[in-house]
Amino acid sequence: MEASREFVYQKFTDYYRDPSTVIPATTLPEQREFAYLMFKERFMVRHRRFTEFKTFRSMLAETVPSDVYHSCAYYENPNFDMDKKGWIGADLVFDIDADHIPTTCNKIHDEFRCVKCSFEGRGITPEICPCCEATKFETKIWACDLCIQSAREETAKLLDMLGNDFGFSQDEMHVYFSGHRGYHVHIENEIVRSLDAMARKEIVDYVTGLGISVLDKEPEKKRGKRVATKKFSLHNFGWNRRLKIGMQEFLVKATKEDLRTVGLKNKALLENRDTIVNRAIKEGRWESINGVSVQTWLKLAEYVKDRQSSKIDTVVTTDIHRLIRMNGTLHGKTGLKKIEFPAKNLQDFDPFTGAVAFKKGKVKVLVFDAPEFRLSGETLGPYKNQTVELPVAAAVMLICKRRAEVAK
Ligand SMILES: [Zn+2]
Ligand SMILES: [Zn+2]
Repeated sequence: MEASREFVYQKFTDYYRDPSTVIPATTLPEQREFAYLMFKERFMVRHRRFTEFKTFRSMLAETVPSDVYHSCAYYENPNFDMDKKGWIGADLVFDIDADHIPTTCNKIHDEFRCVKCSFEGRGITPEICPCCEATKFETKIWACDLCIQSAREETAKLLDMLGNDFGFSQDEMHVYFSGHRGYHVHIENEIVRSLDAMARKEIVDYVTGLGISVLDKEPEKKRGKRVATKKFSLHNFGWNRRLKIGMQEFLVKATKEDLRTVGLKNKALLENRDTIVNRAIKEGRWESINGVSVQTWLKLAEYVKDRQSSKIDTVVTTDIHRLIRMNGTLHGKTGLKKIEFPAKNLQDFDPFTGAVAFKKGKVKVLVFDAPEFRLSGETLGPYKNQTVELPVAAAVMLICKRRAEVAK
């Protein structure tokens, strides 16, 4: 395995020493904390300050870390201990990662194993081992097209909210492929910098649809007596608009099966779907449909809310000291780079082409186990215990994921 790590290290070295490699400077680099993971020693160097971006570039070329990060925060003294840094403000960042989205593919290609008791399984890695309560796991995860597509859909919903509801322009929303199986969205606007953790939590709640007031219209029961049921209504802004769009989309296509999933047995919903869409959703006459009660609307809205909310990693956004992977640097688990693209290109940007860092050369590797995958427009695999000659980018990815080694 040593020779394989050495091979990857060499490729990372070539990347960081190549003068044509683009690593865009952060805004206000002198106020950021920089951090990086040492390739061979595997420890994190933190609290570094670079007053000039040039010096940072030279450090990358000399040190060749496996992963590179900077703080979302701006500090007076980014190189001091945490409590003495002097927090000035922070970018508003969002992390959308297939790790946090229940996809149909993670049961197929993701495995975890408890380091302490060897309990193993497939799918999303638990936070705590159900057998021994340890929190450390060895994982084997994969990023397939379905993972990326799921993350992309969640990102699209987030961008829609940030643009339509919060009023950020396309230029203010910096969108990145994370280098593995997700997306980052950074907003560096001055207006967000001073937001504290509580304010960021409010934004997270909005994006994830937590505590939307329109859904609190459950009829109250006081001393067993029903108090008059409130009317159901939705206006045309923010989550109200989003629920309307979602309800319409659902009703237009819904089958009996779909209704059952939502927990609704009301056949009137399917029989009168055109009337419902026109009269209730479009004209706002919610009470005018025979046999469709406030409860039905609430149930439907609740279901639509789950579908319309964005599955962001909530911890990342609320952490005002967060370190985030640096644009233009390589991901140690894939050899792909984190890369920015215009928000409007979200659907068209293909990470398995656009984020490829190593474009030249081939190398012979022994692949233990790899599903079929796409890279730089080529479809490769599946492989099982076989020696194959692969493009360097594919070889690096499989070695980083401990699924291959350089052939002897
Ligand atoms: Zn365990
Ligand atoms: Zn997948």
